[in-house]
Amino acid sequence: DLRLSDALDRVKPSATIAVTTKAAELKRAGHDVIGLGAGEPDFDTPENIKAAGIRAIQEGKTKYTPADGLPELKEAIVGKFQRENGLTYTPAQIHVAPGGKPVIYNALVATLNPGDEVICPAPYWVSYPEMVLMAGGEPVKVECGPNSSYKLTPEALEGAITPNTKWLILNSPSNPTGAAYTRAELKALADVLLRHPQVWVMTDDMYEHLVYDDFEFTTIAQVEPALWERTLTINGVSKAYAMTGWRIGYAGGPDKLIKAMSKVISQTTSNPCSISQYAAIEALNGPQDFLPVRKAAYQARRDMVVEGLNKAPGLHCPTPEGAFYVYPSCAGVIGKTAPSGKVIETDEDFATELLETEKVAVVFGAAFGLSPAFRVSYATSEDALKEALARIQRFCSALK
Ligand code: PLP
Repeated sequence: DLRLSDALDRVKPSATIAVTTKAAELKRAGHDVIGLGAGEPDFDTPENIKAAGIRAIQEGKTKYTPADGLPELKEAIVGKFQRENGLTYTPAQIHVAPGGKPVIYNALVATLNPGDEVICPAPYWVSYPEMVLMAGGEPVKVECGPNSSYKLTPEALEGAITPNTKWLILNSPSNPTGAAYTRAELKALADVLLRHPQVWVMTDDMYEHLVYDDFEFTTIAQVEPALWERTLTINGVSKAYAMTGWRIGYAGGPDKLIKAMSKVISQTTSNPCSISQYAAIEALNGPQDFLPVRKAAYQARRDMVVEGLNKAPGLHCPTPEGAFYVYPSCAGVIGKTAPSGKVIETDEDFATELLETEKVAVVFGAAFGLSPAFRVSYATSEDALKEALARIQRFCSALK
């Protein structure tokens, strides 16, 4: 029998990918499934970006590049951080990898030693604790419930830090809750971190461009420049530019860390796809005018989804600042019985029963480390969302 690595044995498969796969299977079997599970824009990659990819192919830019990114792309990223975040990096302080996910993994592999702790505020993106485990570290879950709008408070952060804490992972706007930290909230967290020089900050800003109303996005190294030298600022083109399949993520950080990450990528994946890197240069340097248009569409959907979910008996849905997710609590339906006779004991039961009876796919909250709740992605058409909301309302009304 094949013995798997002990490190991998501790790791769970991705629940979000599992839900997406299950929904796709039901769809192939002929069921009318509405998938609200996927974390991916439904919009297409803008034409100018696609054209840059095509041009790269035609011009023969189809060979290896430096392992951690083309110099021209690093220049574009330096420009982006300066222009949009007021952060100064040199090209040597930039890492490019095949997606935001490998950027995070490369950073963890480059830095974690046995016993090192990584603070993951919950609910968290499913991959953080699992990547920490694979890299040989210890994820430390800190529950951040609805009372703090699903955000980490300075008190909770202070209480979670130990001499072994290596990283705090921040994600704003958040997957799965959509919650985003204000400048003042980040400053308050930074004040705690300034007292604990052993703690580094990995900030995952993947949803930076998806913030609504007048919310002003800021990132921690910008809010507290004294943290710059121990912050890895992570971003990517997947969500903002609807480029999930192109696989380009990037980060800025201090030289020693970036150099270590470069060593990891050079001995593992090597460079992200050359064609995608040229497309990413166009994404960052090209016209940005489609961003507010898409943002307005997402905001309208968010408002519709929050309103619709709050009409379902037993659900309570806060209005988040960003991303394309909402994270309603389903505490009010726990203990109720579905028409099938199934008692809803957990949020996983809720999501399973909802998929089986009403054919709406959502991801249960336990996967993100905070129950009872579930994640709805509204990166789908308004028609599909309307129908899904009607089904969720019908489902909840039928629970006794
Ligand atoms: N970080 C967060 C919070 C995400 O939601 C995702 C994608 O779902 C990623 C990182 C990974 O992005 P990429 O597709 O660029 O690897």
